[in-house]
Amino acid sequence: MPTTHTVDVAVIGAGTAGLAAYRAAIATKKRAVVIESGPYGTTCARVGCMPSKLLLAAAEAAQHARHAGPLGVHATVHVDGREVMDRVKRERDRFVGFVLEGVDAIPAADKLRGHARFVSPGVLAVGDARIQAGAVVIATGSSPVVPPIFDGLGDRRVVNDDVFAWDTLPASVAVFGAGVIGLELGQALARLGVRVHVFGRNGGVGGLKDPEVRHAALAAFRRELVLDPDARVKSVALVEGEVEVRFGEDSVESFAYALVAAGRSPNVADLGLENAGVRLDEQGVPVYDAMTLQCGDSPIFLAGDANDDLPLLHEAADDGKIAGENAARYPKVVPGKRRSRLAIVFTEPQLAAIGTPFRDLPADVVTGEVDFEGQGRSRVMLQNRGLLHVYADRKTGRFLGAELVGPRAEHLAHLLAWAHQQALTLEAMLAMPFYHPVVEEGLRTALRDAQAKLDRE
Ligand SMILES: Cc1cc2nc3c(=O)[nH]c(=O)nc-3n(C[C@H](O)[C@H](O)[C@H](O)COP(=O)(O)OP(=O)(O)OC[C@H]3O[C@@H](n4cnc5c(N)ncnc54)[C@H](O)[C@@H]3O)c2cc1C
Repeated sequence: MPTTHTVDVAVIGAGTAGLAAYRAAIATKKRAVVIESGPYGTTCARVGCMPSKLLLAAAEAAQHARHAGPLGVHATVHVDGREVMDRVKRERDRFVGFVLEGVDAIPAADKLRGHARFVSPGVLAVGDARIQAGAVVIATGSSPVVPPIFDGLGDRRVVNDDVFAWDTLPASVAVFGAGVIGLELGQALARLGVRVHVFGRNGGVGGLKDPEVRHAALAAFRRELVLDPDARVKSVALVEGEVEVRFGEDSVESFAYALVAAGRSPNVADLGLENAGVRLDEQGVPVYDAMTLQCGDSPIFLAGDANDDLPLLHEAADDGKIAGENAARYPKVVPGKRRSRLAIVFTEPQLAAIGTPFRDLPADVVTGEVDFEGQGRSRVMLQNRGLLHVYADRKTGRFLGAELVGPRAEHLAHLLAWAHQQALTLEAMLAMPFYHPVVEEGLRTALRDAQAKLDRE
């Protein structure tokens, strides 16, 4: 007879969303368990946000030292791949350590190890054990999509997880995918002296949707990176221990590794969802409400990357809290508080998207712009590449959103997201202080441009 645990809330996945859900559920004094089949530590800390930013930090140092000549500063750069990877892993382990301390603090009775599957609505199987749960939070994260064209490459085919396990840097890498992960890792490796070719698809660059901003981003990256956003890859094969890529008319290039960064998909395939009593969309992901995270009117909630919405760390944490609270109070679910959309890519120049997605902007939108080419502080720093578009409602002057490629975009993006969440108008934003000389003056130029267009109407 399998052991049966009866709980109020069962959380599947001890990543960022799952841990937040578990904590939110126990904060309401309900009995909850968190089930994990893989290593503890979260995707963000182990193989995501943190190690990628660590690799980018080394790359940025190399790049700036190498290109300080026009400032009159001349340096000879030597990149030691072992030292680079050693720091990436050491610091990564430090961040993972903090997560593990949090997991250690969870009572043993609340932690189950193993793969969870629905055997019926409200009943999960984990190995030999059965969990009878009043409500379930699915927080199983996402995994890299690896299309069949990459079959047959053996250990020459890698994904982000593998890169952060390298002891040193390889000589060459073909990066497949010009999305967020492909661009961040591709640029980092190239700047660290690895021969890199980024093969994109369908013209996409880092998730940007505004064609002019995307064009500006492409131009900026192409100054230093071999990047084809619409590569026609014909075949990828293992030839004499190397990855041979055939592309374009008749080009052939060989690489030590193929890094597949072709998108991620929610980990929902092996959950036994057919037994869960929930409706699935065409991708097999449960249909859910973005505000309550509830799947239909069932006691099942979907949080983090598993819901295939905004695969971002802060969204996973917010999702987890909302899902955990609603699971604990089921059936009295309430909409959670959502923040303005904010997405950042940590390349150089950085990319960001804020507020209303470009494709959802109303037809009568006003666009203000600044080209960073002539922006004072950006020129001072020799980082004057990029374009910012701000969008505002023509009738009310309300700031609706922005897309940008440019220096210090992570900081500009925060200012813009905060303004968006406060529902500020251009006028109110322009009434805020701007110091001199700062990159934010570029933002002011874009806001003034949009305001002038409104005033002319
Ligand atoms: C290379 C990279 C860079 C990134 N950089 C950033 C960044 O800079 N900023 C940002 O905001 N976001 C970034 N992200 C995205 C961010 O890491 C994710 O959005 C976030 O980690 C998702 O958290 P999660 O809790 O949904 O999933 P996870 O942390 O992946 O947790 C899911 C857990 O569920 C477990 N699991 C799965 N199935 C089962 C099952 N059936 N039973 C039991 N356990 C199961 C898994 O083992 C896993 O531990 C990056 C991602 C990657 C890959």
